[in-house]
Amino acid sequence: LEAQLLETEKHAVIGKMAAGLSHDIKNPLAAISASAFAIKKKGERLKDNRIIELAEKIEKNSSRAADIINRLLNYAKPSYYRSEKVNLREVILSSIDFSIPDSRKKDIKVYKRLRSDIFTYGDKNALQQVFINLIINAVEAMNNRGRIDIKLTKNGNYAAISIKDYGPGIPEKMVEEIFDPFFTTKEKGTGLGLSVVSRIVKDHHGKIEVHSKEGEGTEFIIKLPLMED
Ligand code: ADP
Ligand code: MG
Repeated sequence: LEAQLLETEKHAVIGKMAAGLSHDIKNPLAAISASAFAIKKKGERLKDNRIIELAEKIEKNSSRAADIINRLLNYAKPSYYRSEKVNLREVILSSIDFSIPDSRKKDIKVYKRLRSDIFTYGDKNALQQVFINLIINAVEAMNNRGRIDIKLTKNGNYAAISIKDYGPGIPEKMVEEIFDPFFTTKEKGTGLGLSVVSRIVKDHHGKIEVHSKEGEGTEFIIKLPLMED
């Protein structure tokens, strides 16, 4: 229990630091952005394209930085869990519905093996977020076309949820990094999906396994403590 308390405290401290840092960075960024705008206007009056171009570059990049800071603020926001007995089968089924809109259903075949109701104790919405993030990654890895296998089984005192795709896989040396906040290989990725997954699973005393082979695909297995009915 003591270790658990420490962990929670650490989270709170990191959250506070991130929020404070974000705030401190936002003001100078706003000043940079406003100055760049003024320089651009000056460049327009002088009809100097080089000045305009450089000022626009500063504007664009400071707005990108502001974007990243906003996401950090969001990430740092404390989350409150409402824990209850959760039917994992139901949560997984609704996660599939959320992640794969009707317009894509014809191109993505989901093979489900969710035979029995299996229960854990936790926050339904948070757990749904976990499965949604993993399924969306699987879909994106296969460019919106292909097959995903989703399985729910009992495994000792754990419920095991497996989400497997047949995409390009993850290079072995990258596997450690994929859970880092902001790590992404996608042009428009946020890099937050898996960091959120790992935080929620940890908060639920669960574990994550990744099995991936380049050129063959990726399987994420989430293990959560069973709650007997
Ligand atoms: P994002 O999806 O915004 O990039 P994530 O945290 O969800 O952020 O994922 C981080 C990175 O992990 C992805 O950019 C991708 O490189 C890799 N990744 C995650 N899931 C898969 C998968 N199923 N197949 C291949 N690569 C994956
Ligand atoms: Mg993602």
